[in-house]
Amino acid sequence: MRKTVYFIEGDGIGPEVWNAARPVIDKAVELAYGNGRSLEWKELLAGEKAYAETGTYLPQETLDTLAGAELAIKGPLGTPVGKGFRSLNVTMRQTLDLYACIRPIRYFEGIESPVKHPERVNMVVFRENTEDVYAGIEYKADTDEARKLIAFLRDELGANVDERCAVGIKPMSEKGSKRLVRRAMDFALAQGLPSVTLVHKGNIMKFTEGGFRQWGYELAHDEYAGRAVTEAQAAAGETGLVVKDRIADAMFQEVLIRPEQYSVVATSNLNGDYISDALAAQVGGLGLAPGVNMSDTLAFFEATHGTAPTIAGKDMANPGSLILCGGMLLEHLGWHEAATRIHTAMNTVIGNRTVTVDLASQMQGASTVGCRQFGELLGAAL
Ligand code: NAD
Repeated sequence: MRKTVYFIEGDGIGPEVWNAARPVIDKAVELAYGNGRSLEWKELLAGEKAYAETGTYLPQETLDTLAGAELAIKGPLGTPVGKGFRSLNVTMRQTLDLYACIRPIRYFEGIESPVKHPERVNMVVFRENTEDVYAGIEYKADTDEARKLIAFLRDELGANVDERCAVGIKPMSEKGSKRLVRRAMDFALAQGLPSVTLVHKGNIMKFTEGGFRQWGYELAHDEYAGRAVTEAQAAAGETGLVVKDRIADAMFQEVLIRPEQYSVVATSNLNGDYISDALAAQVGGLGLAPGVNMSDTLAFFEATHGTAPTIAGKDMANPGSLILCGGMLLEHLGWHEAATRIHTAMNTVIGNRTVTVDLASQMQGASTVGCRQFGELLGAAL
């Protein structure tokens, strides 16, 4: 079986981390399946490389190909500096309707963490990616747009808003919330995981965040009858995937105090942004965090770090995030043996304390290797 994966190298450290990552992913597949399975990599242009070759940062051909693709992976893309450029990442997310941002957070033995028991963290965060205050409906204070909107809110709806405010809108829909929670539920069931926690701030924002909670429970009730149970039903002895909810501020305490009680988290855009970075820090930082943005047809894996311009071209970058993205891609394909090899190799190499400088600076007695060599060590440990 041969699967096509489109790749975008990315800017800054992108090409280095990609060149270190790709052989590791290929070798994991080869060791697991011999000639039986393989990945066919096809390059797409975006970012600086696209600009140099085509005069545009995000060629239409790239978007068209991705719109019809099943699998893609990318390094980080810088936002071109200058007026009028939107973030390429945001443009791709919106154009391709990549509505679910999924980030697994787990601990690798040996990494320095700010908490006593980072190994108790093993969660997958599903963050809604298209709605909420990130929808981009926001107006600067004292502009015509802000004044018009405030006048409407005051005059038509009787809202008490100072006329000199900056204002933003927080749209959250039943459709947007349910499709995100559905993905989280399907994932938890497919992986045999114990629970899905709906994280929201519905005690204050009753109709947006509270809507998310309500729609999540409705979905569990209507579409997962017999397979999902509430916390109360679980306490009464019923079995199934436990669907529970937590208010966002309480959840930040919970993941520090009782992380082992949480497995899959489904949440709105802003909450998801905060909680996934907080969890990544809890297990020792963002350097190793992989992620994927998904539509109904495309799984688009991406390193969660940026282009790290100050170390670009110096063979200092950590390719771990992109390599773990490769592991996620293999899991997504159901190629579990190959994915397991990547995770085992990561544990081994980090356990040997021979790591890139970002990790070495957080580990007692570690020796430093470059980006390329770190990739080679991982390849040898598969
Ligand atoms: P950054 O992630 O590039 O860098 C933050 C810090 O982490 C820096 O000290 C950097 O050296 C370090 N770092 C990041 N990745 C590393 C790695 N793999 N190995 C070792 N060290 C690493 O964030 P930033 O400086 O805020 O952003 C730089 C550029 O990247 C901006 O143009 C931003 O828009 C872009 N960006 C892109 C993405 C993406 O494509 N998904 C994400 C974040 C930022």
